Amino acid sequence: MLIDVHAHLDYPQFDADRDAVVERANAEGVIIINSGLGTTGIRKTLELTEKYDNVYATLGITPTEFGEKEIDASIELIRDNREKIIGIGEVGLDYYWVKDEEKRRQEAVNFQRFIELSQELHLPLVIHSRDAEEDLLKILKEENTRALLHCFGGDANQAASAAAEGHLISIPANLQNSKQKQSVAKAVPLDSLVLETDSPYLSPVPKTRNEPVNIKQTAKKIAEIKGVDYAAVEAATTKNAKRFFNKILRP
Ligand SMILES: [Zn+2]
Repeated sequence: MLIDVHAHLDYPQFDADRDAVVERANAEGVIIINSGLGTTGIRKTLELTEKYDNVYATLGITPTEFGEKEIDASIELIRDNREKIIGIGEVGLDYYWVKDEEKRRQEAVNFQRFIELSQELHLPLVIHSRDAEEDLLKILKEENTRALLHCFGGDANQAASAAAEGHLISIPANLQNSKQKQSVAKAVPLDSLVLETDSPYLSPVPKTRNEPVNIKQTAKKIAEIKGVDYAAVEAATTKNAKRFFNKILRP
């Protein structure tokens, strides 16, 4: 069993063949955690968890969403569906798309609301951080919160010290072609790693649509980088994800 801790199967890229994509993952024992963002993504993601046994949900909002009504409505939806989800996210900071200082401060204020929500609901946080790793890790430290860092964009040293602070580092499927991701995978111990596809993005084959079953290739590549068996990567990443999300298997 492998766990894809971060995918977006609710996106329109999967409208034509979503059943087949989920079935391909299921056939290979891949469990999918779908990240539903904003009111539309949250509703669609909740539908997916009803429909498919191997799909679970984390709910959040993109950090580049500044509309207060949309943020309020998303938080309300998350509260209302507390029992149907396993985490909050992705939420966080994006400095790649947001350059303006004032807006970056607003991102931090919005992020804070989701940190508090995760504490209130006792759900773990899945973090989106783009070019903002330093501020992000500082905030998590101040909040004494351990999180899953989706698609970690920092360097190997940052990744290793984040892992030492108790965070999980998630390695996406484009590991195959990314020197940065390979050095992160090498630097972080197996007991702090989890795997994701970020489908439909970050495909192992550039310019193609990614899908959860591709996570097997990521596990193979990590085994190669670390010089361990595939089974060891499978066991460790699955155990890490289960421990983090706490209730990943339906009764
Ligand atoms: Zn994502």
